[in-house]
Amino acid sequence: MQIGNIHSLESFGTVDGPGIRYVIFAQGCPLRCLYCHNPDTWKVGNAPIQMTAEALLQEVSKYKTYIQKRGGVTFSGGEPLLQARFVGDFFRLCRQENIHTALDTSGCLFNDDVKQMLEYTDLVLLDIKTINATLHQKLTGISQDKPLAFLNYLQEINKPTWIRHVVVPTFTFNEKDLTDLAHFLKPYTMIERIELLPYHTYGAFKYEEMGKKYPLEGVEDLNSEQLKKAEEIFKNEGFVVS
Ligand code: SF4
Repeated sequence: MQIGNIHSLESFGTVDGPGIRYVIFAQGCPLRCLYCHNPDTWKVGNAPIQMTAEALLQEVSKYKTYIQKRGGVTFSGGEPLLQARFVGDFFRLCRQENIHTALDTSGCLFNDDVKQMLEYTDLVLLDIKTINATLHQKLTGISQDKPLAFLNYLQEINKPTWIRHVVVPTFTFNEKDLTDLAHFLKPYTMIERIELLPYHTYGAFKYEEMGKKYPLEGVEDLNSEQLKKAEEIFKNEGFVVS
């Protein structure tokens, strides 16, 4: 029996997929995004919550009446793909209960467990960090090969997908990279919308608590003017942007 390593649970999420969502934050992530506001989820193992898929469904079921209407469950992180078998088991149980399932991921792993998990996933929220290969390595610590293989597979199976992209001043807030990303994504017909997430420094205190230096010290929050500019670039390519 698979045991899930979970960092935390949120019973009333409104920003990770459609409607009201029960959000499960997985423990463990192989990336090291410079702007990550959840560095406390990085460490693999030693999760604050450990439970079976059945026990997790029981917990979620307490909120079924309001998440079932237009919402559902979202597995976020950390990186849920590290526990694809567990997430697949859990999503399969949710399907049986008619609960909508969303996966919030960086797409950094691609294997048979991931493919099987996607069979029980209704919506993927894929966080594309950047389309600039050099910047991708610098920003996340990994190459973009796996996330792009994951993206291509989503197209192959025609999986409803929302692309998420964090817009960071001096890093991803760059007209050329944003335009290149919009052009690159245009042919992917399974993409339903683009969500642009403005960079903020809310997570900085966590680094301090962990005795780590905040990697983006001095980088300011993205302002509404800058966000509007970024949105225009994607709207001009015909995307629904939120
Ligand atoms: S993928 Fe998400 S959790 Fe992992 S380092 Fe990047 S922002 Fe943080």
